[in-house]
Amino acid sequence: MATLTIDGLQRAYPRDGFALRGVSFDVPDGHLAALIGPSGAGKSSLLRLIAGLDRPDAGDVWLADRNVTRVPAHRRGIGLMFQELALFPHMNVHENVAFGLRMARWRRRARNERVTEMLELVGLGAYASRSVDQLSGGERQRVALARVLAPRPEVLLLDEPLGAIDEERKRWLRSELRDVLRAVGTTALVVSHDLRDAIAIADDVVLMSDGHVLQYGPLSLVSRFPLTAEAASMLGYVTLLQGEVEHSAVRERGVGELGIPPEAGISGLMRVMAHPSTMLAVPDGRHLGSGLSGVVVAIRPDGPVPLLDIVVGTRHLEARWEWDLDAPRIGTVVEIAVRPDTLRFYGSAPVVVPSEPAVESDERVASSNEDAGDDEDAPRRSLFGNA
Ligand code: ADP
Repeated sequence: MATLTIDGLQRAYPRDGFALRGVSFDVPDGHLAALIGPSGAGKSSLLRLIAGLDRPDAGDVWLADRNVTRVPAHRRGIGLMFQELALFPHMNVHENVAFGLRMARWRRRARNERVTEMLELVGLGAYASRSVDQLSGGERQRVALARVLAPRPEVLLLDEPLGAIDEERKRWLRSELRDVLRAVGTTALVVSHDLRDAIAIADDVVLMSDGHVLQYGPLSLVSRFPLTAEAASMLGYVTLLQGEVEHSAVRERGVGELGIPPEAGISGLMRVMAHPSTMLAVPDGRHLGSGLSGVVVAIRPDGPVPLLDIVVGTRHLEARWEWDLDAPRIGTVVEIAVRPDTLRFYGSAPVVVPSEPAVESDERVASSNEDAGDDEDAPRRSLFGNA
């Protein structure tokens, strides 16, 4: 087990340009980090470099104090759980899990003990002699996990570990995957296109876009204080308003206006965002709302409370209805209530992260805007990039 440090990794492909433009972050020893970003952000390219399946043009990969940038893949001590690394169909469950140990020349007895231990860990103790084609998708994933963990990798890379699993089983597997990884204590980096996987599994999050890191740090902090509108969008925040700031308010024609706190900035374009989990629809005229109101155009059941689809001027927003047991009728005007301290403001001024103990004590909260050097315009450039 070790801290994984990524330091200034760059990778260009002839004709296609940069896949990685100087990527830096670290995953502390024993932490589970989720790597999130849209398709083409550079996630796979990054994993390949960390695994040693490709060489960077510049930058280094460290495992604890060992620079492994030029170490061949099989000597890095990194375990890979990639979708293309399927189970060996001609081997049974035990043989699959034992494979890496054979390669590493573990003695038979130690090997058998370790395989048994790993199969117990993933809840497949009774499946050792099963053929892998007798397993469900979820069971295969668990065998793959046992196989990759068996040789005690210092760092584990998981690429879409729940990609091929149906939604119902996924919910259960997410917590199982997290529990197994925590029990083993391996440092792990998990790539997922599904934010829910990442949130359920990870301690830390790395947000990537267009070959660079937008922000990384503890999930609890990054998800509450995204530094740019693009980072916020990636985490599921939605835009309530975007417009010019005038007299301490942001106004958008046809949508509405919202007062802004003085630290959010005093002029220029401003985008106000909120996370749907903090938004509630309330009856109109109660003045509990954010100042935005709109018309209910659809009502969808979403667990115990319905989710309303609301048209606010030119914008569609979703908000839960918890006011009473009867949902409002379609066509009703409702206000959207958002607690003011959960609104996020993105403008030309730097984002203000409230100083609270968690922020001050955690030095790992970082943005690659600092790394970008000459890229002073980064927050502004991404302002309207990802509505
Ligand atoms: P992600 O995994 O986030 O979807 P990738 O790392 O696959 O992103 O791709 C990042 C960028 O690098 C994309 O623009 C992609 O087209 C390019 N790219 C990736 N692999 C290659 C390759 N082998 N040859 C040329 N371009 C590549």
